[in-house]
Amino acid sequence: MSISQITHSNIHTVKKTDLLSLTLPEMQAWLLEMREPAFRAKQLYNWLYKRLVTDFSAMSNLPLSLRTRLTQEASIGPMIVQSELHSKDDRTRKILLELNDGKLIESVLMLYPPIGENNARATVCVSTQAGCAFGCTFCATGQMGFDRHLTSGEIVAQVLIFARELRDAPWVAKGLPGSDPIDHITNIVLMGMGEPFHNYDNVLQALRILNSSDGFNLGARHMTVSTVGLVPAIRKLSQEQLQVNLAISLHAPTDELRSKTMPINKKYPLEELIAACKEYIAASGRQVTFEYVLLAGVNDTEDHAHQLGTLLAPLKQFAHVNCIPVNATSADFKSPSGEAISAFRKVLFEHSVSNSVRAERGDDIAAACGQLRTRFEKNRKQQ
Ligand code: SAH
Ligand code: SF4
Repeated sequence: MSISQITHSNIHTVKKTDLLSLTLPEMQAWLLEMREPAFRAKQLYNWLYKRLVTDFSAMSNLPLSLRTRLTQEASIGPMIVQSELHSKDDRTRKILLELNDGKLIESVLMLYPPIGENNARATVCVSTQAGCAFGCTFCATGQMGFDRHLTSGEIVAQVLIFARELRDAPWVAKGLPGSDPIDHITNIVLMGMGEPFHNYDNVLQALRILNSSDGFNLGARHMTVSTVGLVPAIRKLSQEQLQVNLAISLHAPTDELRSKTMPINKKYPLEELIAACKEYIAASGRQVTFEYVLLAGVNDTEDHAHQLGTLLAPLKQFAHVNCIPVNATSADFKSPSGEAISAFRKVLFEHSVSNSVRAERGDDIAAACGQLRTRFEKNRKQQ
């Protein structure tokens, strides 16, 4: 199959080739097929990922004839920003994007001021699917069901939208006027809508494109993939050349409890999941983060923390737990009190399990993924 056929069959609704879906070698092959010189691919990569342009007419070192052809035959991540919300402190910015078949997804930019030795960070939380097929009960995306996989270009485009925004208006933390402004994206997390490993090939392709040193040049260690726990894909990731960070959505320390909130646990129960993580650690030598959404009265007692400490003991110092107070969704889950969270963490420390708590942010802009779209669709129905 030729490259243009591959691209077209991947993007059913788009006739043009989305350049953001192509790795550099694929772009070279695509240009050759168009009887254009392959070296133009590096120039295009430079315009797309370093200069961040959205318009072929700005690509001044390309011949006019090529620019005209590109305008007719190619696109640069076509999608419309339907709405953008900034939290009051402007550290969280959320956009609702309409894809070219009308599907809606969300992306979030999270800005962190410099603290001590740590530089400022600008992290994009990226969606990998429109909707999600896995139905976790506390998750707004899970409650809307699955629409479709995103193409690699649609995944890449989300990062570029925020990269352009920061480049045009660098951010300085309020209250820290002397600190350096941040004008570029430093990290991405695949924690938006959808399950990245359900869309494995497009996700890995997108990460490789963003990693390319001829283009966006984001280091693999600055990328985090979060999964509901698809065991075969965890094994597959450990064989990839790309050294991204892995986060597992654990959220419960026993099969009985996990199966209640996360239906996938019936297919891949904890024993298999932890075994896959162990293999991943052995193959990669890297730490795994376990996300644990704290649901008051459900999974947040000291007993649960003891069970979690025991479950993760075989992974030793390679397991890190990130405690996440649940963001309110339409489901009736509540976040535990500060004391309950501290008590939970203390037990984990007693088990020598390193852990942190995610600072809540952006509650005033419906930060949990899926919430903005849910709200938008409700309003649309009422109109
Ligand atoms: N599907 C992947 C990645 C997207 S969800 C996964 O499940 O890992 C990203 C993270 O947000 C996951 O850890 C998920 O469990 C968590 N999450 C979902 N709903 C949440 C909520 N209401 N409050 C806090 N975190 C939530
Ligand atoms: Fe899907 Fe992740 Fe939400 Fe579960 S938590 S429903 S896997 S997006």
